[in-house]
Amino acid sequence: MAGEPQADCLFCKIVAGEVPATVVRETETIVAFRDINPQAPTHVLVIPKAHYPDAVSLAAAEPQLTADLLREAGEVAAQEKAVEAGYRIVFNTGAGAGQTVFHAHAHLLAGRGLAWPPG
Ligand code: AMP
Ligand code: ZN
Repeated sequence: MAGEPQADCLFCKIVAGEVPATVVRETETIVAFRDINPQAPTHVLVIPKAHYPDAVSLAAAEPQLTADLLREAGEVAAQEKAVEAGYRIVFNTGAGAGQTVFHAHAHLLAGRGLAWPPG
């Protein structure tokens, strides 16, 4: 069923506590943890606890949860003291765009100059 945990999903395992992660924020619906291979001084992944393969399928199925995700990404940015300097929220969608984990996640990047356009 849509949103149910998937046995072969790394991020579902992090949600379940079966794989360790450095969690920086957790609510009833989302969890945020540090990326294992950070691309910036602040690199946090913000994920819904429910499993959807990417951000757009999450938005189609659960608009409120999508709003939770974005709001909580902003809360993490505040926790990380990134609001004044600015930050970037990225949803890689599809393998061709660099998506490697097919459980919806926002990358929150901050703490260095962020070039535009991105690579
Ligand atoms: P993406 O490539 O957009 O699908 O993002 C997946 C991200 O998950 C990458 O930035 C990885 O570095 C990160 N990642 C993979 N495994 C772990 C893990 N066990 N804990 C934290 N981050 C991870
Ligand atoms: Zn999952």
